[in-house]
Amino acid sequence: MMGHSHALSGVVGWMAIVPLVQGTEILGVRFDLGPGEIIAGSFVCAGAALLPDLDHKSATITQTYGVVTKTLGALLNWLFGGHRNGTHSFLFALIMGVLTQALALWSDMAVQVFVFLLTGIALNGLGFGMDKNRTAAEVINAMGTAGIVLALYTSGVDYSWMGLAVAFGCLLHFAGDMATEMGVPLLWPASKYRFGKNMGFKTDGPIERKVITPLLTIAIVLYSIYLFPWAEMLPEA
Ligand SMILES: [Zn+2]
Repeated sequence: MMGHSHALSGVVGWMAIVPLVQGTEILGVRFDLGPGEIIAGSFVCAGAALLPDLDHKSATITQTYGVVTKTLGALLNWLFGGHRNGTHSFLFALIMGVLTQALALWSDMAVQVFVFLLTGIALNGLGFGMDKNRTAAEVINAMGTAGIVLALYTSGVDYSWMGLAVAFGCLLHFAGDMATEMGVPLLWPASKYRFGKNMGFKTDGPIERKVITPLLTIAIVLYSIYLFPWAEMLPEA
């Protein structure tokens, strides 16, 4: 799957799961999500849905923060045995979830930085004006990212669900890759079996372009109408 499809699936996945987890407790995390948490979670999940492709040199995410993401990508590629190997396994999702949850428990500031990075990755993945003028695109992306993170920060978003959202984003990535013809070694390193190989549609083929991407976009619009208390946000008459 292409980067933007993964990023979109992260937003849709988070919005779809919010009504299901709202008011429940999972692994000690109480889900009491307001509009701020829903928006923050969408960006975190969209960014996380791109993390597994950090193992690929030319992936959108690896290019996002220049030398920083390239070095991180090379490291992960080495640790997890090359492209679409260990970074596409349950083990990777678990490690990412645990690491980011530890980060969230450790420092409020660290979480803000991480949310900033993931939001930048998400916007980049969604193709926020990437094409023609790279410098302008990067400036727009950085400003958009900063604005979003600052708005979330001032509204006092609670990030106790961080690790679960990141792990969930990774799982959405695997689902996306399994829906294309390339299999995913979910049980790596125990087994190299690739789930979903030779099934599904072509990456960046007509189905992904003309069906999947538009459907994901429509889903985001519909979920936004459904999830947010628009009427309450209007100024009182
Ligand atoms: Zn992938």
